[in-house]
Amino acid sequence: MTTQFEPVIGLEIHVQLASKTKLFCACPNGVGEETKPNTAICPVCAGHPGVLPVLTEGALALAVRAGLSMNCVTNRYSSFSRKHYFYPDLPKGYQITQYDEPINGAGFIEITYGPKNNLQKKKIGIHHAHLEEDAAKSTHLPDHSLVDYNRSGCPLLEIVSMPDMRSADEAYAYLTEIKRLMRWVGASNCDMEKGELRVDVNVSLRPVGQEKFGTRTELKNLNSFKAVREALIYEINRQTEVLLSGGQVKQETRLWDKEEGVSKPMRSKEAALDYRYFPEPDLPPVVLNEEWLSRVKNSMPELPAAKEARFMKAGLSAYDAGVLTSSREIADYFEEVTKSGKVSLKTASNWIQTDLLGLLHAEKKEIEDSPIPAARLAELLEFAESGKINRKQAREVFDEIYAHGGNPADIIAKRGMVQVSDEGQLEAWAKEAMAANPKAVADYQKGNKAAIGALVGGVMKLSKGKANPKIISQLLAKLLG
Ligand code: ADP
Ligand code: ZN
Ligand code: MG
Repeated sequence: MTTQFEPVIGLEIHVQLASKTKLFCACPNGVGEETKPNTAICPVCAGHPGVLPVLTEGALALAVRAGLSMNCVTNRYSSFSRKHYFYPDLPKGYQITQYDEPINGAGFIEITYGPKNNLQKKKIGIHHAHLEEDAAKSTHLPDHSLVDYNRSGCPLLEIVSMPDMRSADEAYAYLTEIKRLMRWVGASNCDMEKGELRVDVNVSLRPVGQEKFGTRTELKNLNSFKAVREALIYEINRQTEVLLSGGQVKQETRLWDKEEGVSKPMRSKEAALDYRYFPEPDLPPVVLNEEWLSRVKNSMPELPAAKEARFMKAGLSAYDAGVLTSSREIADYFEEVTKSGKVSLKTASNWIQTDLLGLLHAEKKEIEDSPIPAARLAELLEFAESGKINRKQAREVFDEIYAHGGNPADIIAKRGMVQVSDEGQLEAWAKEAMAANPKAVADYQKGNKAAIGALVGGVMKLSKGKANPKIISQLLAKLLG
């Protein structure tokens, strides 16, 4: 019998906070590639001797918002330390970071994973989330290196999870949820291509049933969610092979090589750096004022989990509620469409997911770019729900507005779409259709209820598509007895 192993996974995620300024100076934060190198800097973030860092309120407030979104304890007292190492992208020779007294203490988030019709939920603990400054950016060329200090001093929040994940899918779901939360509360845009979200993965194996954790490795250089999943699967297999062949996993840091699809050793535990942390003497401890903290708390939006629960209580499936809260913009759009109470949640949900997001995603657009404002879609769906136009016509109007703008009432009138609801006219058509198709009438009366479809089709043809099929089939059923 071979031993079965269970993976144990913990993630350390750095997100770049979306504040206007850097962490300890008034330089602009997150200027990006378009900005000329070394122009968004000052003596503080360039690390000149004798200058004094000052914590910026915007970055602190975003760190607290991020923590609240993850159910973290907000520590009323926190402090900064120096973490020493030498690198050209670290002009002071140390990084200012929170060490043993972080701004956010323990919390948790709830992840959702698994197949659409059988979604699983699980709580993942957050160990803490601390503030630190980013390093500069180096570019290594064949015979020399370049350093751009624009990124130096930008605010990062490092979110350290508990080792609560048990599969690559759970880790993927955890990342997805962190990104949703950070964007939802405006803490970070989490654009991985811009380096606004960076992930280090810790993974170990233990025999199923054993409580004690095994020896872990840490994977670095993961720059997409896909890379995290692939690296985890690779590393879990690698460690399984080591253990099954009687070997031991070495505690080490490994680099993920996405071209080759393998992880390679980078440094071992023995070579681990000694950072010589000590309290940062230039920054006073951060003591939060209760009034300031309640202002931050009061400015928090309804969180996605609460919104999701509310949507489900109103009758949406877990899957639909998840899609409609995948971003705050989608949730706002959905609520705008349904706020009059005249459009059912399910109808709005279907149109937004299938019709609207379908078209938008095909063009790589987000709901914010929708050419159909929520209020317009609401008007259109009211026409459809009240039976004035049918689904096919509604989609025609939808496509017209999507491509050329305009409002539903005008387009429906212009196209002469409003459905005939004159009962005398409908009955005349129904009788004509029955006379034209005696076989369908006989089949229906013999018990083949599906035969009514042919008769509904007949009426639709006679009405040139202006009859409402639902009303027609009710009428036909009545006439057929
Ligand atoms: P370090 O001080 O070396 O950074 P931490 O205790 O801060 O280590 O843990 C870093 C990350 O590693 C956390 O996300 C934690 O959940 C995870 N972790 C710790 N031990 C293990 C383990 N045995 N297997 C997998 N992940 C682990
Ligand atoms: Zn600066
Ligand atoms: Mg750590």
